[in-house]
Amino acid sequence: MNLVAFSIRTKGLSNFSRRLWTVFTRFGVTPGPTRRALFSIVDGLRRYDAAPTFFIPATVLRRNPGVIAEVAGSGAEIGVHGYVHNDYRSLTRTAQLEQTRRAISVFDDVKMPHHGFRNPYLGWTEDSVGVFAELGFAYDSNEAVLHDVIDTAALAAAIRDGYEKSLALFQAIPCSRYTLRPHIEGALVRVPTSIPDDEMLFDRLRLTDAGQVGAIWSEVLRRVYILGGIYTLNLHPERGILCRAALDALLATASAQPLPVWIARIGDVAGWWRERRATTLTVTPDGAGRWCVAVNGSPRASVLARGVAVVGTPAEEWGDDLLRIAARDFTVEAERAPVVAVTARTPDEVRDFLAEQGYPVVTVVTASDDDDHNSACVVDLPGGLGATRAEQIARRAALVDQVEGSAAPLVRLALWPNRYHAALAVSGDIDSITVQDFFLRILEVR
Ligand SMILES: [Zn+2]
Repeated sequence: MNLVAFSIRTKGLSNFSRRLWTVFTRFGVTPGPTRRALFSIVDGLRRYDAAPTFFIPATVLRRNPGVIAEVAGSGAEIGVHGYVHNDYRSLTRTAQLEQTRRAISVFDDVKMPHHGFRNPYLGWTEDSVGVFAELGFAYDSNEAVLHDVIDTAALAAAIRDGYEKSLALFQAIPCSRYTLRPHIEGALVRVPTSIPDDEMLFDRLRLTDAGQVGAIWSEVLRRVYILGGIYTLNLHPERGILCRAALDALLATASAQPLPVWIARIGDVAGWWRERRATTLTVTPDGAGRWCVAVNGSPRASVLARGVAVVGTPAEEWGDDLLRIAARDFTVEAERAPVVAVTARTPDEVRDFLAEQGYPVVTVVTASDDDDHNSACVVDLPGGLGATRAEQIARRAALVDQVEGSAAPLVRLALWPNRYHAALAVSGDIDSITVQDFFLRILEVR
């Protein structure tokens, strides 16, 4: 299916006509207008010592290597957005592999470093995850967490219909503590992205005011902050100038939170997650009501504790009810062991999952086993994490909520490096740089 047919199917004819008109207002026949828009985002982030991540189709990079090299030279990360701007859901695994290889060879030809992949239309499949890992990508950023910040009941029917088409197109997953965290699948780190993106707000919901958009993004940030997760903003650079005030509002909201928010490129987030996953947290009994806690691995990792007294080591109050400890080895006192106890009949995949979340995991014979560990937080899940991806997401989310919602004493690895409580990654897909790119997409996708 070509781009025109695809756009009409997913956006409807009137949206597509509006889109054509905006193409001529946002792109030029030279890279100049897009360059200004890209640097508007780069400059906005630079004020916070941060930089964005941009994904670009290889053919667009090949036609415009100079401007992208300049943007990368400013500190922005560049990732792969397909060989051409097509939907991988319509490709076999072999075709995905072949097109991804061709994309990599273009990036290599123009000497553009790349570690991550984001699919056009967020159209990833189970095959894609294997293909990205096989070809050596460090991460993908495709799983679209839906933030429920739009009152869809108040929308006109046609607009609500368009909005719902986008949710289906982007394979939206529900927002939870768990889905706001990266995770590792095989050799790949998966960093979630978020919707509604700028296209949904401007072109679907017909918002025209950057102030309104800035308020929506700030509200998402505040919700993500409460759950201590990552907000990966997706802002198409073609709206970089239009959205600059909204971006400034979001960045100001992020830096105004009581605990620090890490504003980072997605590649840095993925690198951290791998480093954190290789870090272990162990808790061993040390006499009645005492436990030795040991961190092995990243020097950027720290420990958060609840319901315990830390003995002889500095501990900082962290939020409402936590302590933050930077030491590698220390002792805590608590009524029960500050660990997550998993029953022996629960499969290992659950233990692996809980370890990736940063919890110290011990195995107990039964849920009522009264051994040295005597934890108050017990996980008994003989059926494991479930068969389908939707089931797995739901069970994983419920497990994280169970552990973190419990009042039982617990130590765990902090989710983010150093002193950060939550994360914000500003990203954008550079679908086209010039008017020519926009129309060449139609031919390329065929
Ligand atoms: Zn795109």
